[in-house]
Amino acid sequence: MQPLKQFWVAEALEKDLGDPGNPESMMSFKQVIDLDEKEEFPQEIIDWLYNWKLQHYYIPTECGGEFTRFDEFISFVRVLSRRDQTAGIAFTTMFWSYLVWMAGTDEQKQILSSFMKDANGTMCLAYSEKAHGSDLLGGDMQATKVDGGYILNGEKWPINRATRSGVAFVLARTDPDGGPRSLSLFMVEKSKINPDNFSNLPKILTHGIRGSDMSGICFDNCFIPESMRLGAEGMGLELALKGFQITRALCAAFSQGAADTALRTTLKFAIERKLYGKTVFDMPQPRRTLTDAFLDILICDCSTFGVGRGFSTMPEQISVWSAVVKYFVTTTLETVVNNVSVVLGSRFYMREAHDWGIFQKVLRDNSIISMFDGSSVVNLHALLLQLRQLTKSRARNAGKNLEALEARLATTFDLTQNLPAFNGKKLELVNRGGDDVLQGLDLALASLEKLKTDSNLNPDTLYQIITLTDIVREELNNLDVKITESTFQFGHEQDPELFDMAKQYCILHAAAACVYTWIYNRNHLGEFFANGEWLALSLRRLMSNLRPATSLPGRIDDSCVVQEMIRLYNEDRMFSIVPFQLAKSQLQETTTDATPKLQLQT
Ligand SMILES: Cc1cc2nc3c(=O)[nH]c(=O)nc-3n(C[C@H](O)[C@H](O)[C@H](O)COP(=O)(O)OP(=O)(O)OC[C@H]3O[C@@H](n4cnc5c(N)ncnc54)[C@H](O)[C@@H]3O)c2cc1C
Repeated sequence: MQPLKQFWVAEALEKDLGDPGNPESMMSFKQVIDLDEKEEFPQEIIDWLYNWKLQHYYIPTECGGEFTRFDEFISFVRVLSRRDQTAGIAFTTMFWSYLVWMAGTDEQKQILSSFMKDANGTMCLAYSEKAHGSDLLGGDMQATKVDGGYILNGEKWPINRATRSGVAFVLARTDPDGGPRSLSLFMVEKSKINPDNFSNLPKILTHGIRGSDMSGICFDNCFIPESMRLGAEGMGLELALKGFQITRALCAAFSQGAADTALRTTLKFAIERKLYGKTVFDMPQPRRTLTDAFLDILICDCSTFGVGRGFSTMPEQISVWSAVVKYFVTTTLETVVNNVSVVLGSRFYMREAHDWGIFQKVLRDNSIISMFDGSSVVNLHALLLQLRQLTKSRARNAGKNLEALEARLATTFDLTQNLPAFNGKKLELVNRGGDDVLQGLDLALASLEKLKTDSNLNPDTLYQIITLTDIVREELNNLDVKITESTFQFGHEQDPELFDMAKQYCILHAAAACVYTWIYNRNHLGEFFANGEWLALSLRRLMSNLRPATSLPGRIDDSCVVQEMIRLYNEDRMFSIVPFQLAKSQLQETTTDATPKLQLQT
């Protein structure tokens, strides 16, 4: 069994779901494609997941469930998402429950917990409005105070699971005068309101996740009791934004699952397909594309696990981390899917030719992840508003409280360390104290220098890691100067250059997350991880976004990365820094030539 406990649920779920390449297994590629073709909601899959009691892992233990930590959550959502984002997203709308675990009364928590566990219930998040999109404060939905409660009026659209949900989290205006305290959030239990006063809008036909229950919800003079309000009146926007810090970061898990399937199915093609007397994989160009995709997945892994654990260790900083991960991981993995599509050739565009056409479904489904729950620009905007403060904090904190900083980084990035319980009350709307991840670069460099005496490490690889980490630090200093000199003002009309700075911040953040992940896990994630070639290659890849390749150290030999990718493929393991066991593949698809798995000759 996998020694790291946080992967046990994911492995058990994988085992029970079975090989997605076997048409008979639950959530097989064939089944999910068939449903997608019919645009049918995956009810059988959802029922199976409820019977498996997966919903318990969305409910914290203190509220009667099994959830203890976000890194465990991320891993099993990856498992769902590698098979089908439609079902994965539909089931995971349950993570909106975090609004209640954070801000609900004991009674509200109890109601929601038993609704999820005993009634197979789910919820939807009703924030967006047709006329207002990202502008939550501009919304028209009204909640007018009356005796004992509120009267809801207005429409929310487009809302995932608006129709097939028993609870809607509705953001509505309680103060007609407007302003940041004008919104309140309600946990509307549909079974307890008059059905004559609310209705659903028709299903929306979408480009991807076609079987989703996408519609809208409309309230017409609908009375809701005061007991359905979450938190204090007027605190709706603050609660919504804090809830987004959680859900946006966790969206990364959807993308990681999709990227795994995109790479796996393309790899399968590349090692089976023969051209010019060799396989496609034997050709350097496609092999490089696939290897770079694998590196991108590993880079994103470090950020995703980092934020997953960071919720417990540095919740005050999650306003930054969450925006970084929602932007960086989802867009990077979207690019991974696009990049590997070139290797799959014409089959990437076909709806049945290779692995039942799962690739084209992944491509369509996955393109929503970077957009919903706060688009890329919305997340970059949330980040850029904090950049000036982050720069100031970094200067102010330099060289101070280093032991405490190192201890926080170690607990966050060392996957073997226990985590303190997550306390949602510690989330902050904006980061005031600084960002440990970039603050710790000097510490990281000092740790790397000490490794020069480690005879197990290849000195050339370590030299690359140190040199490239130093470049990360230099680029951070350059960025700090640019931020300080910028003509930044708060508001929505930000210069595109500030968005570029926020993107650079994300890249530096991701690079630092990779470095700590390596430093703190070298002794327990296996030989490939410990040797560090993947890290040197990843850092070079990240820094080539900021500097011309000619000014970086030359690319080292990547054969060990290629070998690891093939090992994980052959052994049915997740493409990850923690390659946990996936369901074993047994049947080869009948429509493709079933050649044995690749014996790599490198
Ligand atoms: C499949 C799907 C599922 C969804 N599920 C839900 C759900 O469950 N619940 C829910 O409430 N909503 C949901 N949404 C709605 C989604 O969150 C909205 O689409 C989103 O809020 C953006 O709104 P919009 O599309 O109207 O674009 P707008 O917000 O109108 O944006 C228009 C343009 O302005 C730009 N822009 C916006 N803000 C900024 C800024 N600060 N700086 C610079 N440029 C900016 C945008 O990038 C875009 O180019 C879903 C949408 C889809 C497609």
